Amino acid sequence: MSTTDLIDTVELSENVSIDNEQDQSMDHNEEEQTQQEQHQFDVIVIGSGPGGYTSAIRCAQLGKSVAIIERDLLGGHAVNWGCIPLNAMIASARFIRLIHESVRYGINISSHRIDYLRIARHRDEVVKKARSQIKKFLEKYHIQVYTGVANIIDKNHIIIKPIQKYTYINVYDADGRNPYETDDYIPIRADIEISGKNIIIASGIEYNFPNFVETNDTKTIDPTQLLWHKNIPDSLIIIGGGVLGCEFASLYRHLRSNIILIEKNSRLLKFMDEQVSFAVETHLKDIGVEIILNAYVERVSKGEVIIQLQQTNTKRTLLSSLVVICTGRKSTFDYENLQNLGINIDQEHSTIIINENTCQTSIPTIYACGGVVSSCWSWIPCVIHQGYLAANRISEYEDNSKSYIPINLVTPFVINVIPAVASVGEVPKLTDDVLIYTFKFQSNQRAIIDNQTWGFIKMWTTREEPKKFLAVQLVHEAAAEIIEYYNIPLREICLLPFAHPTYTESVKEACEYVLGQSMNYEGTYLN
Ligand SMILES: Cc1cc2nc3c(=O)[nH]c(=O)nc-3n(C[C@H](O)[C@H](O)[C@H](O)COP(=O)(O)OP(=O)(O)OC[C@H]3O[C@@H](n4cnc5c(N)ncnc54)[C@H](O)[C@@H]3O)c2cc1C
Repeated sequence: MSTTDLIDTVELSENVSIDNEQDQSMDHNEEEQTQQEQHQFDVIVIGSGPGGYTSAIRCAQLGKSVAIIERDLLGGHAVNWGCIPLNAMIASARFIRLIHESVRYGINISSHRIDYLRIARHRDEVVKKARSQIKKFLEKYHIQVYTGVANIIDKNHIIIKPIQKYTYINVYDADGRNPYETDDYIPIRADIEISGKNIIIASGIEYNFPNFVETNDTKTIDPTQLLWHKNIPDSLIIIGGGVLGCEFASLYRHLRSNIILIEKNSRLLKFMDEQVSFAVETHLKDIGVEIILNAYVERVSKGEVIIQLQQTNTKRTLLSSLVVICTGRKSTFDYENLQNLGINIDQEHSTIIINENTCQTSIPTIYACGGVVSSCWSWIPCVIHQGYLAANRISEYEDNSKSYIPINLVTPFVINVIPAVASVGEVPKLTDDVLIYTFKFQSNQRAIIDNQTWGFIKMWTTREEPKKFLAVQLVHEAAAEIIEYYNIPLREICLLPFAHPTYTESVKEACEYVLGQSMNYEGTYLN
């Protein structure tokens, strides 16, 4: 079930429907001729999310004429409905945390009130700014934007159809306005056919509700609908203890919702290191989130969730104002159509198969990047890198082969719980060739000054000299800002001067410990 199936279909207003009378009065031959001239491009990009706008801008920078087709607001899911609005709201939650801790800094804030209207206005402002930034860059590089739904008809042609309904309906901004009523959103009124020497599919993925959710249940929503909900729900059941589930539990608990987080596995964030998962679990429990692990959801209906507890083989019924589904994703594209065109699809994961070095599909003129090639919500730095690779290859940019790096291994990512979790690299299997260390923030001067000593850095290195990082995971308020330093080789970090006192210094301190060069900081060697 898609998001839009949940709520009644809302037709777009009259000004976007086809105005037949006006069309008939035009001189069709002349119109078609100009359109044909106008609608030929070197590159057509489908979707304006991080994959789409990066590849479009990069192609234009390398001299290509580019069109981008977007059925929603510019910036894609990431800018309008996912990463950016979520992080804007998390910024408010961080303040709430600081207020709670203020007394430790000698400031007594006797009372505070959560003003949701202002939090929501901040979210709207941030999204608008991010969107206008993208619009500005698309204009700067003369990229033609079509607001409509792209249908690929062959290896070089696309028909753009008028939009029948908004992607998100019944979603309003803080002041009750329809977010689509903006100058950035002017849908086409009739089919347009355009051609491109190359096509890049960057159409992303969308939420998919599992079968246990009753259809047309207005109390069961997806994460985006929660971010735009008219108020902070009193109580919230979150299904799925992955990245989104943990982030939403942390955010809404700080905003004072009563939260139950349900996860079918025996721990949260099961793809992370166990110690990191446990730290997140402990912290969420400390702030009052009820976590139920090993629980299979049987049914979700009207705020009621029936779960089967694996360990006791018993059932439990839970009630809340809203249920948010943080599991499941599906493709935005008609894969059957793509397959009929000759594009190879990974059936198991419903993803487009690409050459990872170039992002080229099995049809040489068609490329794909971002959500459509990933079996989960991919991390934005990875999506951006793929867009860049595709554009370089299309533009025959010489360094393309050299610019390839195994992006999955070096892409840092952040899980925006409070305090945050960050990771880079792939945790190796535990063999004699691997060494594991932890380093606590209790040793870092900035952390001591700021009273932010809760958290640790866990590092996996080679035993073989010169030692190299294989993976690093860290839990700390500053995690997001320091994780990328671990892409610098260990020894080089130790040679770099770091400003003092800073959180980034903890990177050098941890590296010095690994190399046995600590001056006054101690870590722990784990194996
Ligand atoms: C709530 C949430 C928070 C997240 N936070 C983070 C984070 O903090 N950090 C991070 O790294 N990642 C985060 N992610 C993941 C990130 O949003 C995705 O990796 C990213 O959006 C993928 O980019 P994309 O370009 O592939 O697709 P999208 O951003 O989904 O953009 C695709 C666009 O294509 C359009 N489209 C689809 N089909 C068509 C069509 N036929 N015609 C025209 N247009 C079409 C869609 O409308 C959409 O606008 C988050 C995801 C969610 C859901």
